[in-house]
Amino acid sequence: MPRAGARRSRAGGTSAGRDLERYGAKRRFEKTPEPPPRQRRSTTGRLFVVQKHRATQLHYDFRLEGSGVLKSWSVPKGPSLDPAVKRLAVAVEDHPVDYASFEGIIPEGEYGGGTVMLWDRGTYRLDKGTDLATALRRGEVVFTLLGRKLKGGWSLVRLRGRSWLLIKRRDRSASSRDVTLTAPNSVLTRRTLARIAAAEGGDVRKAASGDPRKNARRS
Ligand code: MN
Repeated sequence: MPRAGARRSRAGGTSAGRDLERYGAKRRFEKTPEPPPRQRRSTTGRLFVVQKHRATQLHYDFRLEGSGVLKSWSVPKGPSLDPAVKRLAVAVEDHPVDYASFEGIIPEGEYGGGTVMLWDRGTYRLDKGTDLATALRRGEVVFTLLGRKLKGGWSLVRLRGRSWLLIKRRDRSASSRDVTLTAPNSVLTRRTLARIAAAEGGDVRKAASGDPRKNARRS
């Protein structure tokens, strides 16, 4: 039964229900261990999560909680701590808040088939405005991350359509070090992609191609 509140948020272009329908329509929950499309708020209402995902291509899924869902972007190269480096972030379908604790295998042949690692997780706060939905509509989200790997000020700025840029702001947590290489493993279990795949029956060789190569350095 439609509720008046849902219709109001739809008019504002932020209908979470509509976007979890997209999440649900892409997945077969009898095949994938991913959480079902349930809308709910976390305890803080301010979760952020970054999942490293070796699907067809390696990418990092960046998610901010708002309106009972995780607003989500796919970042092909992952976040950079260097404020001079702007990383493309392509907006994708909203994910359920329950996705913030998902690490494991999506079966090959299913949508997003491959290995998913919980790469970083924490909370965020908005530094400009008070409402994520409004910031998204305006195409500029200015926020602070309180994660294990990602900290301090960040911005998401819309270029056009679904294309955004994820940019580190200048502060003492900015750095030229490549955090995707210096901190490549799960923030939850410290596992590599290959170990997650091995433990959970995934494609280990495919997963390992998303892990940094230990023997890449030659002296
Ligand atoms: Mn993904």
